Amino acid sequence: MVDIGLSKPHPMVRIGDMLETLALHGKLHSLWGPGQQDPSAVLPKFWRRYRQEHPSHQLFDRHRTHLHRLIPLQLHMDEGESLKNAGLMVASWQSPIGAGVATQEGEPDMPLNYLGNSFKTRYLISVLLKRVYLKTVKGSLDKLVSVVASDLTQLFEHGIELDLAGRRERFYIAWIGLKGDWPIQQKVGHLQRHFARATKDEEHGVGVCHLCLAGQAGVPMHDLSRRAAWKDTILTTSPFRNPGPLSGVPQTSSQEVMFRFDPFHTLHKGCFAELAGSALVMITDYGLVEGGSFAAQLGSLYDLLWAYCKRTKTPLHMEALTRNQINFKRDSDYPTGSWFKGADTAAVCGFLEEFLTTHVSTLVQKDPYLESARDCCINANMFLKTLYRHGVWLPLEACSQAAQAGLNFLRCYQECAQYAFNAGKTRYKLQPKYHTMLHFVHALTVAATSERKWTWNILADGVQMDEDFVGKVAAISRAVNVRSVHAQTVSRYLTNMWSEE
Ligand SMILES: [Zn+2]
Repeated sequence: MVDIGLSKPHPMVRIGDMLETLALHGKLHSLWGPGQQDPSAVLPKFWRRYRQEHPSHQLFDRHRTHLHRLIPLQLHMDEGESLKNAGLMVASWQSPIGAGVATQEGEPDMPLNYLGNSFKTRYLISVLLKRVYLKTVKGSLDKLVSVVASDLTQLFEHGIELDLAGRRERFYIAWIGLKGDWPIQQKVGHLQRHFARATKDEEHGVGVCHLCLAGQAGVPMHDLSRRAAWKDTILTTSPFRNPGPLSGVPQTSSQEVMFRFDPFHTLHKGCFAELAGSALVMITDYGLVEGGSFAAQLGSLYDLLWAYCKRTKTPLHMEALTRNQINFKRDSDYPTGSWFKGADTAAVCGFLEEFLTTHVSTLVQKDPYLESARDCCINANMFLKTLYRHGVWLPLEACSQAAQAGLNFLRCYQECAQYAFNAGKTRYKLQPKYHTMLHFVHALTVAATSERKWTWNILADGVQMDEDFVGKVAAISRAVNVRSVHAQTVSRYLTNMWSEE
């Protein structure tokens, strides 16, 4: 129980306590990957690779001699839905290393943390009702995160003695970032430059990105050219309104790096959803499927999509394709994939690649708009497939491949946007998330160009499984007494976490 300014002490599972519990049950090794009892084989290698990207992290001064006992830790925060649609903030932690991802090839030496029950791969810290931190006690969320921050600092500086294979060993913890969607990063990081600052009046823009000055005067956010102005502004100007609660935790010298862009919201619920929605509507613009009305054409497209998914054994969650699913109420709207499951975006993009490739191959006369759309889908799919084949670290070849596919996607998408604009159609919108994708591709390109042997797989910052975890914790909160929702949710979580399979 901790004091975060509420009328009663607030329940919290301290990270140190959870580490002791894991050690007691012989599960500590899950933090450096399954099948590796001894962390010495993994952790020094992890930090050697990490150092190539983040040499300024304080861990390299403080812990140089015991990297083999230094565990990397990521925080995640997001809101779930409690009783009566009340928002519930759920804070948890995890290791980036886990049991892998279903699509990986072979056995990566450090698998991603996607597979397995999310209750066994993520660990709850606390929950806090949105109405409490927004209205009743403003600042209580920051106070809660401050307690987490002081725990992280303590575990970094002094470590904790834990049981490992019958011996007491001192372990240390190094925080390597906050995972979460853009609104969470903005809230917890006290960021003043973020997505919601996008404005048509770029002359007076505050900036849309905490990593660079994109969106300010003279710094176009969607510039994909090699000499784009935003690239020269990366990590040059602090994005913080004032220091956030995590600012005191030992970290990298440019603190904005710790607020991690999430590929799931950037791609599946961002750029690739825009691509999928626009390409589907584009097919109806060309009248390439059967059916008279727009709804009937969407119906035909859904039948083709369903058949594609069945044939290729691709999971598909949506049960229909409607105007709502693509957020397209009228022809002057920009369509975007708004289906409930983000994973469906990958299924639709796979289908679109096949459909457009087949159609374009039958054309007697070239159609550059259709060709760009086809290439956009091919490269979006190639980008994801490359990342999903690997573990926490991409080998050089995969990094180069992802960088090239990403760059091709960005270029083709802008071509589509231009063709649509020329035709007077609202398709292929350029959103702030396109800028995030520019950062992903830029980071991969820099790594590939410098021939770095291993590069951070952005999927390690992806929140799919974290959202699953948040959903489960929120479900618990809906089943407990509303008057003591914080205490009972945490207590039931502790009971459930060991019993779930
Ligand atoms: Zn930026």
